[in-house]
Amino acid sequence: MSFQAPKGTFDWLPPSSEQVLAVREALVAPVRRAGYGYIETPVFEDTQLFARGVGESTDIVSKEMYTFPDKAGRSLTLRPESTASVLRAVLQHGLHNGQLPVKLWYSGSQFRYERAQKGRYRHFWQVGAEALGAEDPALDAELIVLGVQGFAALGLTGVRLLLNSLGDRACRPAYRAALQEFLRGLDLDADTRARIDINPLRVLDDKRPEVQAQLAGAPLVVDHLCAACKAYHEEVRSLLTEAGVAFEDDPRLVRGLDYYTRTTFEFVHDGLGSQSAVGGGGRYDGLSEMLGGPPLPSVGWALGVDRTYLAMEAEGLLAGDATGRLQVYGVPLGDDARRRMFLLVDELRRAGVSADMAFGGKGLKGAMKGAGRSGARFALILGERDLAAQAVQLKDLTTAEQTEVPLAQVVDVLKGKVQ
Ligand code: ATP
Ligand code: MG
Repeated sequence: MSFQAPKGTFDWLPPSSEQVLAVREALVAPVRRAGYGYIETPVFEDTQLFARGVGESTDIVSKEMYTFPDKAGRSLTLRPESTASVLRAVLQHGLHNGQLPVKLWYSGSQFRYERAQKGRYRHFWQVGAEALGAEDPALDAELIVLGVQGFAALGLTGVRLLLNSLGDRACRPAYRAALQEFLRGLDLDADTRARIDINPLRVLDDKRPEVQAQLAGAPLVVDHLCAACKAYHEEVRSLLTEAGVAFEDDPRLVRGLDYYTRTTFEFVHDGLGSQSAVGGGGRYDGLSEMLGGPPLPSVGWALGVDRTYLAMEAEGLLAGDATGRLQVYGVPLGDDARRRMFLLVDELRRAGVSADMAFGGKGLKGAMKGAGRSGARFALILGERDLAAQAVQLKDLTTAEQTEVPLAQVVDVLKGKVQ
């Protein structure tokens, strides 16, 4: 019997694993340059943190969580997202008592029991950034700009930015009531009708054509914004425009939670079929209080690393990216040569040259095949006679040119060649 990775999960293997690592780094490089500090939180948390911090009425909490009792009977949940964890850590350690905003970024696994399909997995990777404790349209704009720069740094040209405002505690209740009244007049199934009471904004997000067709005349939150929310949103829009960031106003874009406020946005890519969102975020001014903390107006985003990788594939940006970082491959012939090569390879690595060697007592033919497959530019061939002469054969695998180099000089020679 052989094991398979669990349904909805997969393994990242070389060389794509190297590429996805580079994707993660590129997506967060802009926030790191903007003063965001790295935070790492546990992969599991108290179930109640997500129940309250993501919201009982969301699909995530109602259907998608990996929840289990530990041996002491505590209910724990594998994190389905990281904003709640970040806020929990900020409140627990009193980071909000220092300089505001607290700026943090993270990178890590997320777990959701979803219907597995391309671009939708049960274990996936997000990078995220959160700025906590300041209400300032420039902060919303900063985060959006930094997200845009991350995608651009990867060479992606097909990422579109959708933008909306969800209002705040002052204007949202009236909008919510107007929307509920409109939705109650529609022909909807029982589940969706139940949603009207709990989470009416989420109904706008329903992907089914028969539902979308009925939503054409739905009241829009933009038409119900109070003066303060309108001014805030206009400021975010104009800062983005001045920064040269293109966006599309999407009055139907919702996040559907009561503590999500004002700015909300999504990054979408059209090459991904129905799993088009490569990232999303917004302002969540009410979340801290939901978790028992003080008022802490905050904004953040999470970007999907797996989907960003798929978007790069769709744009043909992964082809030809040779990730063979190996520079040198050692080919020892015989036991004495193997011992000497072991030390030589170690010396090369210490000198900053990436190096590997043939293991398992291969002969010349097998070891040279290994050198070719390794992607290394140079092979170092060390036989008994070379060893006696304190020399080594240096072969450039791209030109097949071979020269003899004294063992005492080979590290310096290679250092010069690979730079
Ligand atoms: P979707 O509408 O596609 O379900 P979402 O609104 O649930 O996305 P968020 O919770 O905002 O997504 O997460 C941010 C990003 O994480 C998404 O834009 C997406 O790129 C990625 N993501 C979310 N769920 C998954 C998943 N199951 N598999 C892979 N990536 C995901
Ligand atoms: Mg989802």
